[in-house]
Amino acid sequence: MTVPSTPASAIETDALIIGAGPAGLFQVFELGLLGIKSHIVDTLQHPGGQCAELYPDKPIYDIPALPVCGAQELVDRLMQQIAPMGPVFHFGEEVSELKKQDDGRFFLRTSAGTEFVAKTVVIAAGPWAANVGAMAKVELPVDPSPRMVFHFDPAEKFDYVPPFFFSPHGHWCRPETGHQFISGKDREVEPGYRFEWDRQYFEDSVWPELARLVPSFERLKLARGWGGLYEVNRLDHNALLGTYPGVEGLYVAVGFSGHGLMQAPAVGKGMSELIRTGRYETIDLAPLGADRIFSNRRVVEEAVF
Ligand SMILES: Cc1cc2nc3c(=O)[nH]c(=O)nc-3n(C[C@H](O)[C@H](O)[C@H](O)COP(=O)(O)OP(=O)(O)OC[C@H]3O[C@@H](n4cnc5c(N)ncnc54)[C@H](O)[C@@H]3O)c2cc1C
Repeated sequence: MTVPSTPASAIETDALIIGAGPAGLFQVFELGLLGIKSHIVDTLQHPGGQCAELYPDKPIYDIPALPVCGAQELVDRLMQQIAPMGPVFHFGEEVSELKKQDDGRFFLRTSAGTEFVAKTVVIAAGPWAANVGAMAKVELPVDPSPRMVFHFDPAEKFDYVPPFFFSPHGHWCRPETGHQFISGKDREVEPGYRFEWDRQYFEDSVWPELARLVPSFERLKLARGWGGLYEVNRLDHNALLGTYPGVEGLYVAVGFSGHGLMQAPAVGKGMSELIRTGRYETIDLAPLGADRIFSNRRVVEEAVF
């Protein structure tokens, strides 16, 4: 459905990004480097998406040139780097309406009544991507999938760095700094918006398998946990990126399936080039294109946790 013309009260912008999680923030940064100023809307009162809201203290090892960095610290550093590019953030506002105008631009309205008209819209709404897509009458096969990560202290310390290991039942475990470990179980999860972590689940469903594989883990001490949502692309568990077929000006950076933080810098770079010039230049992200929703082309990796 289209709307006829721009309301006088609407903010006009070249690029509007829905979601200020890692995908949205790195997008703002890379667009800024190309001289494109963005407006960003997020339901939360602060930037950083799930990283800042749910696991600000979790150490992050995925970002090049930062051997280890807290999730909140990463967001703070990124906001500092973005500031000179003059993005305009609209926090505490949920996009509630997104549709095409007759002139080809998008009209958006938020829960606070702020209206925008934008030539380019990027959906970077994480596990809420399908809801936002539905507003624009597009289908994004992204489910909110609850996940828990557990941090534990082993009774016996290793004097070498043990490998990241997996069980055939979906358990994973990897070393952290300070002879610690983090672990979880990634299969058989019902989609839904659940954010808590559960000590009992660790004791019943994770710990026994860890102790079976590494007997000294029988005496581990659970230090803490984090709960949140993976934004699972149910087609093939890989990101859906770039233009949405048939809807000019609509871009998606969604479906990271739990790897959004580590992929966001490269995705921001590639997509900013696509938005600016119509093609990928530095890194070809076309294999992860959203067109595969329709062609049923799947990008499958056998061992993704
Ligand atoms: C416990 C845990 C640990 C993790 N650890 C890692 C890790 O170490 N490395 C890694 O790469 N990944 C990790 N992940 C996965 C990572 O958090 C996600 O892949 C990443 O947050 C996705 O980024 P995003 O920007 O796409 O979405 P999000 O971080 O979910 O941000 C989406 C944003 O969109 C906003 N939004 C949604 N709908 C609307 C709307 N209608 N209007 C306005 N705003 C809206 C939301 O408020 C939110 O702020 C972890 C996940 C969990 C749960």
